Amino acid sequence: MVENQEKNTLNNKVVIVTGSSRGIGREIVKYLAMGGYTVILNYNKSENCAKNVENELKEAGISVDIYKADVSKKEEAESLIQYALDKYGKIDVLINNAGIAQSKLFTEITDEDWNNMINNNLNSAFYCTRKASKSMINQKNGLIINISSIWGITGSSMEVHYSTAKAGLIGFTKALAKELGPSNIRVNAIAPGIIDTDMNKEYSEEDIKRIKEEIPLERIGQAQNIAKCVKWLIEDDYTTGEVISINGGWYM
Ligand code: NAP
Repeated sequence: MVENQEKNTLNNKVVIVTGSSRGIGREIVKYLAMGGYTVILNYNKSENCAKNVENELKEAGISVDIYKADVSKKEEAESLIQYALDKYGKIDVLINNAGIAQSKLFTEITDEDWNNMINNNLNSAFYCTRKASKSMINQKNGLIINISSIWGITGSSMEVHYSTAKAGLIGFTKALAKELGPSNIRVNAIAPGIIDTDMNKEYSEEDIKRIKEEIPLERIGQAQNIAKCVKWLIEDDYTTGEVISINGGWYM
């Protein structure tokens, strides 16, 4: 406990990143941990990937907490938040990043596909935020960042359920920013365009070439582009209710 209190004073902000064993979340964890933040990495299925991040950071002399929880399930999502509260006594930043994608014709989306999509991308943020925000309200300080998507703004053919969940996160962000602003809690969304992660591994080289042609900057984004924006949002103190779309100019 004394050791944790010391860590708190030295390393000030406690950050939880949901779904951070791979891709964008993983990069956010690494970027923030290397920047001196106290970071909790959450994983569900990819334990080895989570351990690899932990080891990579350990080699650089940085420690990170790893916690297994399927945040699409209320009890597990809440246990992740409770873990941080028990260990550090506070949560300064919650990044709702966990998400899944699926490409399917609308008429072929099953009830199970739909519920899976909403549970993993939207309900997960609800469960984590509801629990974390109670503590943030008490401390009169906090930041919530929801990782939405460009498709939550524009809609994507063959991804109606994904687009719906990501659009839901935008409404969630704006409404919550209004409600929690008086408690000095900021709530923002980042809506990435196409980012080079496993989520897009189904795309063929031809698909990627075609997509790049539609993007003014003529390249797809890197996870670090999102991590840098997250860090900026943490360091700022006057941005709330915003949806920042990092997409190379694909949508403007
Ligand atoms: P990714 O490479 O497929 O990684 C997804 C991550 O989410 C994994 O670490 C996975 O953990 C975790 N995850 C999924 N469901 C989870 C659950 N129920 N509980 C805990 N962790 C869970 O995807 P990504 O590209 O990094 O995407 C991250 C976020 O950015 C998602 O919300 C995605 O929708 C959004 N986004 C991505 C793009 C893009 O082009 N890549 C564009 C717009 C928005 P495990 O493997 O351990 O289960």
